[in-house]
Amino acid sequence: MSRISPGKEARLQVDGELRGILDELPGLVWSARQDGSVELLSRRWSEYTGKDDAELVGWAWMDADLIHPDDHATVVESWGAIRASGKEGRMEARLRRADGVYRWFQIQAGPVLDDHGDVVGWWGLNTDIDDQKQAQAQANGEQRLLEMITRGEPTAAILEGVVRLVERGSTSLRASILLLDEDGVTLRHAAVLSLPRSYTEVIDGAPIGPDAFSCGTAVWRRELVVLADIEKDPLGALFRANALAHGLRACWSTPMLSSDGRVLGAFGIYATEPRTPTKPELELLERCSRVTSIAIERSQSEEALRRSEAYRAEAERSSRTGTFGYDIQRREFTLSDGVCEIVGVPSRTRLPLAELASRIHEGDRERVTEVVRQALRDGTTFEYEHRLVMEDGSVKLVRVVGRSRVTAAGNHEIVGAATDITASRRAADELQRAQAALTHVSRVTTLGELAASIAHEVNQPLAAIVADANAAMNWLAADPPDLLRVRESLTAIIGDGERAGRVLLRIRSLLSRTPPRRRPCSLNDVVRDVVPLVAPELARQGLVVQQVLVPDLPQVVGDPVQLQQVVLNLMLNAAEASKDVPPERRRVVIRTFVERRASGSFVHVAVEDAGVGLDPAIDKARLFDAFYTTKENGLGMGLSISRSILERHGGKLWARPNEVFGATFEFAIMVPA
Ligand code: ADP
Repeated sequence: MSRISPGKEARLQVDGELRGILDELPGLVWSARQDGSVELLSRRWSEYTGKDDAELVGWAWMDADLIHPDDHATVVESWGAIRASGKEGRMEARLRRADGVYRWFQIQAGPVLDDHGDVVGWWGLNTDIDDQKQAQAQANGEQRLLEMITRGEPTAAILEGVVRLVERGSTSLRASILLLDEDGVTLRHAAVLSLPRSYTEVIDGAPIGPDAFSCGTAVWRRELVVLADIEKDPLGALFRANALAHGLRACWSTPMLSSDGRVLGAFGIYATEPRTPTKPELELLERCSRVTSIAIERSQSEEALRRSEAYRAEAERSSRTGTFGYDIQRREFTLSDGVCEIVGVPSRTRLPLAELASRIHEGDRERVTEVVRQALRDGTTFEYEHRLVMEDGSVKLVRVVGRSRVTAAGNHEIVGAATDITASRRAADELQRAQAALTHVSRVTTLGELAASIAHEVNQPLAAIVADANAAMNWLAADPPDLLRVRESLTAIIGDGERAGRVLLRIRSLLSRTPPRRRPCSLNDVVRDVVPLVAPELARQGLVVQQVLVPDLPQVVGDPVQLQQVVLNLMLNAAEASKDVPPERRRVVIRTFVERRASGSFVHVAVEDAGVGLDPAIDKARLFDAFYTTKENGLGMGLSISRSILERHGGKLWARPNEVFGATFEFAIMVPA
């Protein structure tokens, strides 16, 4: 507060030395009369405004086009309020410079008092705070952008915000953000605001390099590049004509780097006049490039995360697998989409233990709890299968693997994966059932085809029984009855009956699905048991069956019923193969023989025909594949089952073409030592 004497009418009188000091002060100094009208202005006023004092003193300043129109009312009001208060006060307003640019000022005013403390006039000081204001605005803008990044707002909006931050601060600056393509050599605009398309589309796709304008060079060198005069600087050659045509005269670029040092692109600021950047402009460039790098890096890592999340979700879906975490303290599960699908709850659900437990099949609940408890106690991994009961009552089979661990925060949790194995388990079960059924079907159909020959086999003894019974009746009816003959007939009947019984027994054992019973047996007997079954039927087809069995064949250990089935299959195949060949070739030879080797003795059974033979184009191993058949009504299971029977006996079954006609199928089983 200034005190001036003497008297109330005293006015601010400054001259000489004091005036010289006021004129040198780095602000716009002024004084006003008691009523508020401006009286005196320091020299810098005319320098700044380009106006004579006469245009501003008194109340002329109000109409002098000095105050920014938006700030005019505030200034008038504040100045009135300060005067009314009689105290020092301050306000902010934009004042027009001689070149038309408005700059922010802080306007301070205080009363000049006389000895009685009465206001006799006013002093004033206007300080240029435009640079601080600008810096503050930029800092606020940067802050807002960082908040946008944190909130996860779209990258495009953030980049646009950065460009706006540069361009709003000055009418002569333009900003551009160029991103480096995945190829690591080409640049592409990611955000521009006032740079026209006709300019940017020429630059899009330009490669980086040691002299590729300012942005391309900044990325290449990984350092700030200042192109102070596009017209003259050799670095400007690449886009010179284009830049000048759009009124761009300078360009300053800085590379944008990720936190691990990768170059993401370049941030560029153009100026409409040739010059180097001021210190605040360089800081602005630096800040903008930093914010942009953060936004881009975030969007890239989000994209990578989204991609890996998509891969994981796809993998989960196709493998019917999912992952989960269980927070032991909170007794709550966090489930991946895959597990949600398995459990049948909406995606991304947290599920309380009680709710998940209620979906576990009652019969499995206790066991599952015990396994998990045990794993928690021992800190080991665990694995179990359990049933899940769906809302519609259907049941799923799930395999779970997991382990307990301690989180960084010291909490105990369980992490694991669950797989829906309902379908695969069902398929495995069905396959097993199908195999069992096929084995059975194969025997039954094979025998079904033989119904005629079986009937023939059984018919013979039956017919004999009837004939013998008739004879016995006749001998009984004779007078006197010839009991000797009757006894002979009855003995024959018993023999025939036993024969028929044996046939039936054989058929029954072939048809039965009883598990294999191993015992020492002779392969000669196996052949002898089967041949009479098929021979009559084969004979009807004009096929001659010949047995060449070596005497004293050593016994092997095996299931005679299964081995009979093999011989039966081979004989039927031989018959089928011989169906359409000339009559003289319709013969099947069954041989048994012993082969002695260093490793031991083997009994062989070979079924040889002169039929159509093996197709040389077909790999012989394929014949033994399940469902491989060349017959219209074939099942393709005979050889496959036969081979597996032999494998179960530790033996082998193979095929080979004969020298002239047909094929030989042969198997061998080792003789126990
Ligand atoms: P299927 O009799 O139902 O065809 P198999 O497993 O018994 O099934 O036989 C598979 C295939 O092997 C037959 O379709 C046939 O092409 C071939 N094959 C089997 N035995 C002979 C044989 N003795 N001569 C020629 N080909 C044969």
